[in-house]
Order: sequence, then C-alpha cells, then structure tokens
Amino acid sequence: MKKVVKFGGSSLASAEQFQKVGDIIRAEEDRRYVIPSAPGKRDAADSKVTDLLYTLWDTASQGQEYTEIIQHIRARYDAIIQGLGLDLDFTEEFQTIEEKIREGVGVDYVASRGEYLNGRIMSAYLGFPFVDAADVIAFDADGEFDDRRTDKLLAERLENLHTAVIPGFYGARPDGTVQTFSRGGSDITGSLVAKASHADLYENWTDVSGFLMADPRIVKDPVPISTITYREMRELSYMGATVLHEDAIFPLRKEGIPINVRNTNDPENPGTMVVESTCSKPRYTITGIGGKKGFASITIEKAMMNAEVGFGRRVLEVFEDVGMTFEHTPSGIDTFSVFVNQHELEPHEQQVIAGLHRSVRPDMIELESDLALIAVVGRGMRRTRGTAGRIFSALAHAHVNVKMIDQGSSELNIIIGVENRDFEAAIKAIYEIFVIAQI
Ligand code: ADP
Ligand code: ASP
Ligand code: MG
Repeated sequence: MKKVVKFGGSSLASAEQFQKVGDIIRAEEDRRYVIPSAPGKRDAADSKVTDLLYTLWDTASQGQEYTEIIQHIRARYDAIIQGLGLDLDFTEEFQTIEEKIREGVGVDYVASRGEYLNGRIMSAYLGFPFVDAADVIAFDADGEFDDRRTDKLLAERLENLHTAVIPGFYGARPDGTVQTFSRGGSDITGSLVAKASHADLYENWTDVSGFLMADPRIVKDPVPISTITYREMRELSYMGATVLHEDAIFPLRKEGIPINVRNTNDPENPGTMVVESTCSKPRYTITGIGGKKGFASITIEKAMMNAEVGFGRRVLEVFEDVGMTFEHTPSGIDTFSVFVNQHELEPHEQQVIAGLHRSVRPDMIELESDLALIAVVGRGMRRTRGTAGRIFSALAHAHVNVKMIDQGSSELNIIIGVENRDFEAAIKAIYEIFVIAQI
C-alpha cells in the first residue's frame, strides 16, 4: 500500500499541530509522500501565512515599509521550529526572500514561500527527503499547467524515493519562474503526487471530520457524508464547499484513486471516502448542499425566440466576445437568462447590453445583481420524484423568493438562484426538509 497525505493550513498552524501530524504519519508506514500547506490560523483572530505573504508583496510593490510583516511571518515559523526542538535556522531563507523582493520578484514566488518553508520544517521533523515543488510541478511558458510534464517529472523523482515531503500550492515554468495554483491549491498538488506515484489512496487531512452535508458555518453540526462520488464532490466543491479544491478531482478520477478526507484533530474518525462510483446508497435523498454568492443574471425577453435559429448561440457569443464565462442559462419559451459572475460582468456591463441589442434585437433586457446560486446535489435524486417540488415548498415556507431553478441533465443536481441576502436561510431550509425531516 502507498498513501499520499496532504495536510491543510490549520493542521500545520503550530508546533502542537505538527506533532499531531507527525503522529498520524508515523502511525502507518504506508503514509510515504507528504504534502504540507502553509501554516493556517491558530484561532479565529489569527492570520494565514499565505494571506500575510500576499500582504507582504503588495506592501513591497507599493514601495512601503514591510520589515514588520516579514518579521511577523518569520516569527510564525520560528515558533514552530522551536516548539518541535528542531535544529533549523531560516535566516538565510528569509534573506533570499528579501533579496528577491528587492529585485521585483512576482507575487506567486512570495506566496509560494508559505508552503516551501513549511515543507522544509516538515522534512526536518520527519526525516523525509525534501523535494522542491518547483522541480516537479510544471507550468508551460504561458502559465498553463502542464500535466504531462508534471506526471513525468514526479514519477521520475519519486521512483527512487521511499518517502518525501513535497510542498503544496506551487510549481514553476520552464524558465524557473515560480507559479502557484489558485487559492486552496495544495489539494491539487496532493492529487498530482498521488496520480504520478500510483498511490492506493490520497488522504486529505483538514479541520473537519470529512465532507459534511452543508457548510458548517451556515448549518449547525451538519451530518457527515461517509461516501461521495467524484461527480457529486465536484459539483459541491465548485459551488463553494471548499473542503477540497475543485481541480483536485481530475487527476485522480482518471486513475480511480479514492480520496479520504480526514480530521487531524480527530484522527480516529474515518471521515469521507470520495470514489468513482459506489453501490452504497446515500442515507438521504440528497448527498449535500453547496452554494456561492456574487452572481448577476441577464434576462432576455423576445416573443417567439424559440423559433429563431441560432438565438442561444448569438446570445452567448456576446459574452464570449468580452471574454466572459457563464454559469447557467435557464430558459423559457420567450425568455433566456444568463447567470454570470457579478465581478466579471461589472467592467463589461454596458458592452454586453449593447452587444445583445445588436445581435438578437430583444423586446427587453433585464439585469439583476446580488444573486446567489445554491446546488442541491445527490446521486439519489435520480430515483426520487418531486425533489424540485420539495425544495420549492421549503423555500416558500422560509419566505425565500426563488429567482431560478435549473435541473442539470445528469439529474445529479438542482441549481437554485436566490438573492444574496436569502442565501443562508435558503440553505438552512433545504437542509431541514431533506435531513432533519428525513424525507
Ligand atoms: P484546509 O486548510 O485544511 O485545506 P479548508 O479551509 O480549505 O481546509 O477546508 C476546510 C473547511 O471547509 C472547513 O473548516 C469548513 O469550514 C469548510 N467547509 C465548507 N463547506 C463544507 C462542507 N460541506 N463540509 C465540510 N467543510 C466545509
Ligand atoms: N496556502 C494556500 C492558500 O491558502 C494553499 C492551500 O492552503 O491549499 O490558498
Ligand atoms: Mg483547503
């Protein structure tokens, strides 16, 4: 058996947390390749080192004084080193970082140091060899992730290493420029290492006992999910269930390597298994609820639009022309709506409206902002009738105004659009009807 283990920021926020992680790794010889994140928050008022590093780069690039920030970051690492009693000195490491900043290095390099330095500590603490992610996680010259080269580099490097520590979150372009994944990207590094090393299992250790049916910051003590499929998981993580980065799923899916989401603070808990497919029947009709705020909708009304050949294409082309992606396109006989990220729309708003007028000559265009999308996900929904009806009645009961409802053709999810301010109430109401009322 070979296991790849990734530990999130809160699992590595202090020396005490490192000790828990050390105990977990040493408990099983199969836990051979370790992917650390940067130190996270020790308590609610604390900062994540990655956030401090972004602030450091911003401050430096505005020509402002940054000594205090860098000292604060150094102190976080020194506390861990001392707490673990390690013979390690980061003086040179921090000199290099300062030099690079003075030379005008990019933001990704600075952000990546959170993982890099934690990897150095982890390697010294466990006595496992250190592999710099810049040597094995590859981006191309345009900054696109290069999966083929990464797979090759990782496989070659790990072939003769029985154990290793590989920091998460970053890699490098062919010229050596460090580049990171998007936030939360250490999950992706873990997946890539699991794939390239043909691991039997990818354990993702965090601060919750697996995937929960809803965001614990919205629903109190949500029911844990024991088994979830990759597809369900992707729907949920795309829709804000941030336990696992949405892109962490692709590399493993191809190989059929399961992911086990576990809790560093409750190592006995079996957590959640994420698998390709399963006969295990979910306990409830739905597997989970996810959601995100910050969307806008553009609704186009035109009599007889359904008879116009190419109508939908022409609408979407307007968004394509300004380089925007879209989330959902619910439609009726005479209406067609496009849900987009509000943030992305704002700079192009008038251009989009003018473009739509020109290209499809609508009777009316209506713009609505501050919307949230909620995804109700579950492989069990296919077998059950009336799920959408139940969602509607739960939301009506909670006085939530439903803006849109869209059932994916896979019947794996139902997407509901509500106003941002109704977001939490809507999630609670849906959770209650499917889980508390046990329908
Ligand atoms: P890590 O730093 O270990 O990568 P993250 O903060 O990225 O951890 O992810 C874990 C957090 O995800 C939890 O602390 C929890 O607040 C949040 N979360 C959101 N939705 C869910 C969900 N459905 N189940 C479990 N946790 C969730
Ligand atoms: N430290 C990085 C972040 O905060 C990556 C990660 O934690 O996965 O986004
Ligand atoms: Mg994370």
